Amino acid sequence: MRKPMVAGNWKMNGNFASNETLLAGLIAQTEKLRGLDVAVFPPAVYLQQAKEALQGTGIDWGTQNLSQFEQGAYTGELSAVMLKDFACRYVLIGHSERRCLYAELDLDQHVLDKICGEKYSMALKTGISPILCIGESLVEYEAGQTEEIIAHLLDIVIAEQGVKALSNAVLAYEPVWAIGTGKTATPDWAQSVHEFMRKRVAKHDQATAESLQILYGGSVKGDNAAPLFSMADIDGGLIGGASLDADEFINICLAAL
Ligand code: PEP
Repeated sequence: MRKPMVAGNWKMNGNFASNETLLAGLIAQTEKLRGLDVAVFPPAVYLQQAKEALQGTGIDWGTQNLSQFEQGAYTGELSAVMLKDFACRYVLIGHSERRCLYAELDLDQHVLDKICGEKYSMALKTGISPILCIGESLVEYEAGQTEEIIAHLLDIVIAEQGVKALSNAVLAYEPVWAIGTGKTATPDWAQSVHEFMRKRVAKHDQATAESLQILYGGSVKGDNAAPLFSMADIDGGLIGGASLDADEFINICLAAL
């Protein structure tokens, strides 16, 4: 039986005062979250605030990105060792908003996937669990390329670290056309993609596939979470906008239990 998980990506939102309110709102309701893995991803400058508030509460924290390099002349980047200093349990890798920023630099999909694979290896090497975001753009969705896009990145990470390493990772199916757009994938569509992901992993190792948490992300709210999370291969969600409101986020968490 897989433990469900709900993760909140705060993106580039918040300040000390609003974070304090949000964190207090979550902490006040942790009793309800037993049996669920919960994590939040504040902007990195607020990691210390999140760590101080959340340690001992059962809610974990992490960052929205990390560098694939160990250290050096990479202005503005964060290394895995730095994240470890803040006791991050998780890191998001390959979020589509990061990919879009890189795409402005004209890197193609294959190069981006290779970088994600390197970041995934770096996180694991440092003892941080990667939450690997995978999903197709609207153009790719309409062209029927979803499985091809997903298989490409999955195959890279399996080749880099071996399939067993996925037991220390989480996958998130995040169709780019559903992120921050208010358009949610239907439960049936999301389930079919999650099933594809699990089967792809199962080709290498059945036990790893069965225990792997696969989250859905893309405009999940309190009122649409339950039908998605009730699908056989959907183990919870990666939540963006709706994670900025404590009560809304807790409602989504409850839908995963
Ligand atoms: C996300 O940031 O990963 C996300 C899914 O965003 P939203 O819930 O706002 O669509």
